[in-house]
Amino acid sequence: MMAEAVVQLDDELWEKVYELTAGAMNPCFQCGTCSATCPLLSQLGRPFSARKILRRAQLGRGDGMADVWMCSACRSCEIRCPREVRIVEAIMGLRSLAFKGGEVPPEMHRLLWSTLEEGNPWSGSRSEREKWSEGLKLKDAADGVDVLLYVGCAASYDPRLQSVARNTARILGKAGVDFGVLGIREKCCGDSVRVTGERGYLERLIEDNVKGFGETGASTIVAVSPHCFDMFRNLYPRYGLEAEVLHYTEYLERMLDAGELKVPKVKKSRVAYHDPCYLGRYNGVFEPPRKLLESVPGLELEELRESKLNALCCGGGGGGMWREEGGERLSDRRLEQVKEADLPLLATSCPYCIQNFEDSSRRLQGPRIVDVMELMVRPERGR
Ligand code: SF4
Ligand code: SF4
Repeated sequence: MMAEAVVQLDDELWEKVYELTAGAMNPCFQCGTCSATCPLLSQLGRPFSARKILRRAQLGRGDGMADVWMCSACRSCEIRCPREVRIVEAIMGLRSLAFKGGEVPPEMHRLLWSTLEEGNPWSGSRSEREKWSEGLKLKDAADGVDVLLYVGCAASYDPRLQSVARNTARILGKAGVDFGVLGIREKCCGDSVRVTGERGYLERLIEDNVKGFGETGASTIVAVSPHCFDMFRNLYPRYGLEAEVLHYTEYLERMLDAGELKVPKVKKSRVAYHDPCYLGRYNGVFEPPRKLLESVPGLELEELRESKLNALCCGGGGGGMWREEGGERLSDRRLEQVKEADLPLLATSCPYCIQNFEDSSRRLQGPRIVDVMELMVRPERGR
């Protein structure tokens, strides 16, 4: 007869898991809907089960933590969970436990060190943070502004994404908005730190940023990336941030409604919009980017098979941008949906989505990828 496996439960560990996850897994009754609908399993066939992770958390077990690093924090499981379990919060709490136990993938360590030393997770030099704005003559937000334009790490350092930052600044400037930037004093918003499970440094970073933002006197913060936007809108107010927080698509929608945005014509094309998880599912911002695309003369907007609340994740959230993984990716699967619909153009509004889709599109000969912002203003001469 085979001996039954005995699981030793540890009360102290249980309390620690409960505290780190804020008891988020408690209402789970193990129906398995999350696991069955998680794109890591349903789209990529990876052996990953959110249900099992939650069960371990309910039992206060801290073993077998490797899988907590696989989740892309897309929240598509949460919108389907019949008990409204905060699955991502539970998984991030378990990452904190893994972090304390030293079970952290090396790429997470690298991004943390880079953020500590250079203020960004991409190993860019701190002194080069404002390179994206060369020649634009922007106001230093420290001199006092109505609007603080927060560019974020990806659009500051990635040469491909710098056009998104430049176009945002050009549009605000043309409309006469009193805005400024923090230049080399701008630091990571902390989204990439949050997903490593390291909490002490994250708190210090947020406190520093809240102080720095407050010193500008800005009543509105416009973020280029949905990841920064989500941090500022949902986490920073707990640390005293009072300014209104908008994603650039929301700010531009206001300008459009007020007749302050003159959108240039483009070559006739059908286009689909991909909803970034942190803008759509996380914050319900579905219409502003669509309205902006519909305002472009020449574009015909179509919906993908899975869109808005049901949009398939690009795989970049939850630390996915730094994960070293082979095989098929979620961004590949998303582009297959675009190809299925025979669409030549895919627009989105998140630096991570752009990076992932462009990478997939190169390999799969997929559609052209653009950021919504790149369609809002004529390209700069010589760039
Ligand atoms: S869908 Fe919700 S209740 Fe069902 S297993 Fe997942 S977390 Fe638990
Ligand atoms: S957040 Fe996304 S990747 Fe993570 S368990 Fe839920 S569905 Fe899967």
